[in-house]
Amino acid sequence: MVGLILVSHSRPLALALKEMLERFYDALPIAVAAGAGDDGKDLGTDATAIVAAIEEVCGDDGALVLLDLGSAVLSAELALDFLDEALRSRVALCSAPLVEGAIAAGAQIKVGASLEAVRAEAEKALQQKTTHLAPETQVSDAEPPTLAQEPPPDAQATLRVEAEHGLHARPAMRIVQTVAKYKSAVQIRNLRTGAPAVSARSLVAINCLDARRGDSIQITATGPDAGEVIEALKALQAKNFGDPLTEDLPAGVTSRPASGSPDSDQLLHGEPLSGGRAVGILSFAARESLKLPTPANGIDPKLENARLRNALAAVRQQLDENIGLLREESGSANAGILEAHRMLVADPSLGERAAGFITNEEMPAPHAWRRACEEAVAAYRSLEDPTLRERGRDIEDLALQVLAELGFHAPLHIDLPAEPCVLVVPSLLPSDVARLDPGRIRGVIAEAIGPTSHAAILLRSAGIPVVDGIAAAGLRAATRVALDGDTGEVWLDPDQERSDRFALVKEATVVATHAPLCTLDGRRIELAANVASVADAAAAARAGAEAIGLLRTEFLFLDRSDAPGEEEQSRSLREILALFPPALPVTIRTLDIGGDKPAPYLPLPKEANPFLGLRGIRLTLRRRELFGEHLRAILRSAEGRPCRIMFPMVSDPSEVRLARALLKEVHEQLETDQVPHAWPVEVGMMVEVPAAAINARAFVGDVDFFSIGTNDLTQYTLAAERGHPQLREFSSALHPAVLRLISLVATIANRHGKWAGICGEAAADPEAAGVFVGLGITELSMGAASMEQVRRALEGTTYAACRKLARDRIRISPDS
Ligand code: PEP
Ligand code: MG
Repeated sequence: MVGLILVSHSRPLALALKEMLERFYDALPIAVAAGAGDDGKDLGTDATAIVAAIEEVCGDDGALVLLDLGSAVLSAELALDFLDEALRSRVALCSAPLVEGAIAAGAQIKVGASLEAVRAEAEKALQQKTTHLAPETQVSDAEPPTLAQEPPPDAQATLRVEAEHGLHARPAMRIVQTVAKYKSAVQIRNLRTGAPAVSARSLVAINCLDARRGDSIQITATGPDAGEVIEALKALQAKNFGDPLTEDLPAGVTSRPASGSPDSDQLLHGEPLSGGRAVGILSFAARESLKLPTPANGIDPKLENARLRNALAAVRQQLDENIGLLREESGSANAGILEAHRMLVADPSLGERAAGFITNEEMPAPHAWRRACEEAVAAYRSLEDPTLRERGRDIEDLALQVLAELGFHAPLHIDLPAEPCVLVVPSLLPSDVARLDPGRIRGVIAEAIGPTSHAAILLRSAGIPVVDGIAAAGLRAATRVALDGDTGEVWLDPDQERSDRFALVKEATVVATHAPLCTLDGRRIELAANVASVADAAAAARAGAEAIGLLRTEFLFLDRSDAPGEEEQSRSLREILALFPPALPVTIRTLDIGGDKPAPYLPLPKEANPFLGLRGIRLTLRRRELFGEHLRAILRSAEGRPCRIMFPMVSDPSEVRLARALLKEVHEQLETDQVPHAWPVEVGMMVEVPAAAINARAFVGDVDFFSIGTNDLTQYTLAAERGHPQLREFSSALHPAVLRLISLVATIANRHGKWAGICGEAAADPEAAGVFVGLGITELSMGAASMEQVRRALEGTTYAACRKLARDRIRISPDS
């Protein structure tokens, strides 16, 4: 007998289909390969599970694999590759729709048909339905049905709304979820307002019914399971649409047991991103409204609809992933907010409405989507219920996510109150951070920044405590918060005692010392600071940095549309350097634009993978004039002090040689022009690209030092985008593959009388710092706020202990 394998993204779906088949035809050899994750509860497919299922039911007569869609097909094809030749020749993949195909195949299997016959029958399975439905769905010349001709519904009910806030977000969400389980068309009407009935599959439409406590709603259903869906909705209403009779806490909020004070505060858990504590009133930053370009004439509606569908699918997938992650990391509470967003992505009053604008009014996808969202937001705003009016924000938020997916990003609008505050942001770009004034912002709470994104680095170096992974909606009920950037905890409306404790200034703990750092057995390590602003330089000096190990020049000029001239660059750099002791060396990195640091004044071609594109030295070597001005400004600004210059994103020795030659030319020209400037300077390179590390021997003759950027080196080595919220397990510079590259660079440098330092975020981790020292690194550069803890860790250990630590981590000798 031919075996049948059901492959689906959803385990419950596949199991239900299996049960249905077993009811139709008992004793069929059926195996299920469905769902992802350990217990198959996540949506997804898995090639190894498909292999196991094939092995389970494929006998001499072979087996037919039926699949749902998308990656199921890819997984099944991959599974075939895993099978041995003999087994593979007895397995066929089937293009039939899953349910119809399985029913048709089952009938053939039951009568003992061959694999080919089973497959052929399954692939014809849709024909019957197509033929049956086609006449009704074809556009005919007949008059469109009028209301009078509308048939009466198959079932209906009138229900009273008892939920305290009416059919607000959660009751409406549960109605949509309930209706989604049935096939019938379901409509809801608010009898108080008399407004037309709306689809019960649309969250937005239900919210906008303005159904309040005490209102009666009429629900009608037409279709094969009309009676069942009405019964299910009645049952939902009997349970107050799933709401407690007294309003529970807003999504994302968990209550803590009272801790002595009667109005004990509420606690949220996010991800700690930048250490320190802060307390302050909340200020919500929003993305500014987007100016979409005037649409061109003659759009292709098919193409635009496909663009919109793809963008919606991408956002839905992103939300699914984030929901899974939030559930894993912080329980289900925060996930509720994103679940509402996910429901909105599928909401017909947005997607279908936008598709209508594309088809009927020839609007491009971004314009159509925005118009549909604006209409929905306006509908929410017209409601009397303040809770529902607030829901419009979810649509605004979602609108931006989809527009970003369509290639349009809105700038962040920050409107700070007079007193210092805690800023709440959806996400941050480096250019946003560059605009933040640390004097006025005590802390930041964000929905998604990511630990090694440039925005996170800048926030850390500015000493601003940050908690990531908390959605704004969970905070709106509060006016003040206390946050702990070391633990990720956020207290809403904290009590007085906590406020007082969190208001203590943490700078008091920073002890400045310029004493050289040595391990207990005398290994000398240069403790340096990463700097991107005047405030950073001052903090570096206060914290006792022995050098500026990385001055990120690009942040000075990210947020502008015109290129800064030589004078302006030189002045800005001088302002920074003026705050650092003049006898101490400064390492100035040339512009590292590109990747996640686009600069409007240097427009880049659209790149599929900007991190792999025109970035750092690759870009500046192509803009010689600009590079020349930049080098002139650097040399001039560092006049009279020890200066090191290094190049970012180097992957080939020719880039260093060329950049070095240009630097020399610039110096000679400055000499000719009799312009005072720093010379000689040490010239180094960033090691961020694995090729540069593996090939360190080829570079060592052309540089005075290597500075290893573990942020990028890790992302390029592990092929995991830095800051990617779902790939955090691939963001550790302590991964043995990254450590081996660091070891290689340090060994080559030391062997040739040069030195190697680390200036990526990992240098600030006391444990990692010990490992790096053990690998032969002699300079560590980090945000000023981390220097004291790294100093303490290294002064309390020996080089020998660090070498052992490194060996254990890397499992090879650091000298090998
Ligand atoms: C790095 O990649 O580790 C680094 C220091 O450079 P940036 O973070 O600025 O890319
Ligand atoms: Mg880098």
